[in-house]
Amino acid sequence: MKKTKPRSYLSTVLACRCPRCREGKLFQYPINIKLKKIMVMNKQCPVCGQPTEIEVGFYYGTAYVSYALTVAISVASFIAWYVLIGMSVNDNRFFLWLGLNAVLLLLLQPWLMRLSRSIWISWFVKYDPDWQINKINKETVERIVPEQMNNW
Ligand SMILES: [Zn+2]
Repeated sequence: MKKTKPRSYLSTVLACRCPRCREGKLFQYPINIKLKKIMVMNKQCPVCGQPTEIEVGFYYGTAYVSYALTVAISVASFIAWYVLIGMSVNDNRFFLWLGLNAVLLLLLQPWLMRLSRSIWISWFVKYDPDWQINKINKETVERIVPEQMNNW
């Protein structure tokens, strides 16, 4: 395998890559319109073998992450709207923004959901520059109960 410059943390997260090797994809399918497939994850990183579901209910907390992302995007779009188009209490521009922002968030939703998981796992699994040599950190494997996976 050719040795390429490792991804940065940010591009790893944005591209939904494994946080340990920064190479393998976390999700099985590219983003598409089939909603069922969007959230299907590889059980393990296809490159380094890092499990993507560390424990049962591991991704519960992602609701907070996607909420934070939603707020951040709304704030950003509000500022952009305010600067480019402006706000006034005398017309409907605020409600137009509200509507367009809702559409924007809806369109981004599949990506936001995946991004939330990508961010979430990156907080628990650390990048290992020597992932080809080192074993997977046991703490990120042992808590798995395979029978209970996807039960929650
Ligand atoms: Zn990996």
